[in-house]
Amino acid sequence: MHFHKSEIYFFLLLLLIGLAGVSAYSAWATAADLVRVDPRLDPILRFSYFSMVISGLSVACGVLLIYPALKVGVAEQGKLRRMTESLSERSETLEHAAVTDALTGMHNRRYFDDAMREYLAAFTKIDKPVGMIILDLDHFKVVNDTHGHDVGDAVLRQVALCLREFTRYHDVVARIGGEEFAILSPNTPQRQLFDLAERIRRAVEALTIIDGDLHLKVTVSAGIAVWDGQESGEQLYRRTDKQLYKAKRAGRNRVCAT
Ligand code: GH3
Ligand code: MG
Ligand code: MG
Repeated sequence: MHFHKSEIYFFLLLLLIGLAGVSAYSAWATAADLVRVDPRLDPILRFSYFSMVISGLSVACGVLLIYPALKVGVAEQGKLRRMTESLSERSETLEHAAVTDALTGMHNRRYFDDAMREYLAAFTKIDKPVGMIILDLDHFKVVNDTHGHDVGDAVLRQVALCLREFTRYHDVVARIGGEEFAILSPNTPQRQLFDLAERIRRAVEALTIIDGDLHLKVTVSAGIAVWDGQESGEQLYRRTDKQLYKAKRAGRNRVCAT
């Protein structure tokens, strides 16, 4: 049986009152013997008797009235705590769901936009480059149409794993659309950004998605741009997206930079 701290303190108080009652009883018993010999002990006899009665009443009052009320209070407090815990767990889960892509477990567009705003605001004060990469799977519609949506989903999950593998802890990586991913990479100059995009492109090209007898190969195109220190997140996004479409027009499975 588990007792709350306040219940344990209350039992301790009852024990002390009980002990006071027992000592009042022993004083009363002694005085009752001696009062026949010395009547001056009569007030002590009465005093110890009242102390004994008051201790007894206090213990009875504690057990019968105060303890039940205390128990109800403790139970209600526990219920309230459990409710608050479950509510905060639920809201954490909801918050997590609001910024997470259910298919890949990556961050979603909403998270990416917020993070981009925060990163760019922070990097306005420090003179360091921030790079953006947008990647889009090539002819993904054909994959879906030929092999089905489930295979398409498996491809998206594999590509997501690939992106995770190649990015660093402080890079923001997100699935921002159906078959489109974006990376915001702080402290990354153009050359390094291009190398990162190229490494990912090659890794996706090297992937083989196996589904039963099916061995599927996919490729990805990417556009990159480095923040100019002035433009908004949307402007940087649009500039990077232009490079992606340049890569698509140039034949796909390549990285294009400004
Ligand atoms: P491009 O090389 O020009 O990018 O061609 P594409 O076929 O990849 O581009 P398009 O925009 O024509 O088609 C994108 C496809 O992505 C269409 C849609 O069926 C598929 N898609 C979007 N979201 C999902 C998803 O969550 N799961 C699967 N399996 N497919 C998706
Ligand atoms: Mg595509
Ligand atoms: Mg697309």
